[in-house]
Order: sequence, then structure tokens, then C-alpha cells
Amino acid sequence: MKICPYCEEDGVWYVSIEQIPNEQYKMCFECDTIWQRDENVEYGKGKNYITLMEEKKLKADWNKIIKLRKVE
Ligand SMILES: [Zn+2]
Repeated sequence: MKICPYCEEDGVWYVSIEQIPNEQYKMCFECDTIWQRDENVEYGKGKNYITLMEEKKLKADWNKIIKLRKVE
């Protein structure tokens, strides 16, 4: 299991986001930190889900996040 470096919980999943069909991400569901799929889940990397969506001019909507599998 993968421990999130920000909140120290083990809620990190591979996800896809419906509005961004060509990308995959890793996301901590405890603190909403999101990393690029190929980015290491480590402190100093990743960004908040809401920040990511604002940057992409998309609406943050947790119902549009699809959990694929847990990051081991
Ligand atoms: Zn976290």
C-alpha cells in the first residue's frame, strides 16, 4: 500500500477524470492531492485536485473521478 506523504493515510488510487479522458492520475482521497500517473507519490510533488481543475478551467466534481485501482 502507498502512504500519502501529505496526510499519511493509505488512500492513494489510480484514477481517471471524466473531463480529462486522455490522462490518468494518482489521487489521495483523504486530502485530495493528485499526481500525474507517472509522477512519484512524494512530498513536494502533486497538487490539490481543485487547483488542477482550476488550471484546466474545469469544474471540480468528485462524482466525475473514477477509481481504477489502489496504488500499491
Ligand atoms: Zn493524502
